[in-house]
Amino acid sequence: MPGRKTAIITGSTSGIGLAIAKAFAAERWNVVVNSFTDAPQDHAVADIMAEEHAAEVAYIQADMSKAADCRTLVAKAAETFGSVDVLVNNAGIQHVAPAEEFPPQMWDAIIAINLTSAFHTTAVAIPLMKKEGWGRIINIASAHGLVASPFKAAYVSAKHGVLGLTKTVALEVATSGITCNAICPGYVLTPLVEAQIPDQMKAHDMDRETVIRDVMLRKQPTKQFITVEQVAATTLFLCSDAAAQINGTHISVDGGWTAE
Ligand code: NAD
Repeated sequence: MPGRKTAIITGSTSGIGLAIAKAFAAERWNVVVNSFTDAPQDHAVADIMAEEHAAEVAYIQADMSKAADCRTLVAKAAETFGSVDVLVNNAGIQHVAPAEEFPPQMWDAIIAINLTSAFHTTAVAIPLMKKEGWGRIINIASAHGLVASPFKAAYVSAKHGVLGLTKTVALEVATSGITCNAICPGYVLTPLVEAQIPDQMKAHDMDRETVIRDVMLRKQPTKQFITVEQVAATTLFLCSDAAAQINGTHISVDGGWTAE
């Protein structure tokens, strides 16, 4: 809808991205939901969100592993709604293996989707935001952007890279009414994580609570998952006037993980 601001959230048919998209729709923003598939259920996610919140929500298919798709996603969003005011780089994948066994094609895919996509979308979004004299670029990094865990070489490298990109872009746009920041969540209970619990229960012969506390949340001092709503609320905060001078940094939402 003209007059309303527009937010693009990459990788937003599930988990954290979906919650962020819903939070913007609830505030009556124009919202672009994205994933790499083009199935009826992808479009349904956008249609249901639009109906629930009386917001304009468009599903735009774009594969964040492909440079051209990343760039056309932002251009199409501007064509659809007239402006791009918020860009949330959220799409991400994971693969767990020791470095010496890490499949090179998984390394390439993780670096492309979790890091390089944010470069491409940001490059196209900056001139559009400059035109408006206002913009917010928010990169969903991770506690793994600050500290490492074994067997996650590509993911940890990509997320550390995201923090470097965040700081660099923040310096470049600082006088244009635009900020660029990252959010570093700890373990978030997304459908992806929930689905792993039964397997972990079997593998460790533990009940659900013990798996969550001793296996999954071993590094999270609060011993509680972060919720997707908490990450979404932090994203909205970074778009508020109160956050206008927060630039080139990260907000950890990790229950104390990186304090250790
Ligand atoms: P998820 O798997 O639930 O959702 C990922 C989304 O990205 C999905 O909508 C998926 O379709 C989309 N996606 C995957 N590949 C894509 C591609 N090539 N192009 C476009 N979209 C693609 O994951 P999540 O747990 O919600 O994670 C979202 C982000 O948050 C990721 O960047 C992840 O690294 C980060 N994160 C997650 C956690 C956690 O514990 N879940 C913690 C810290 C950071």
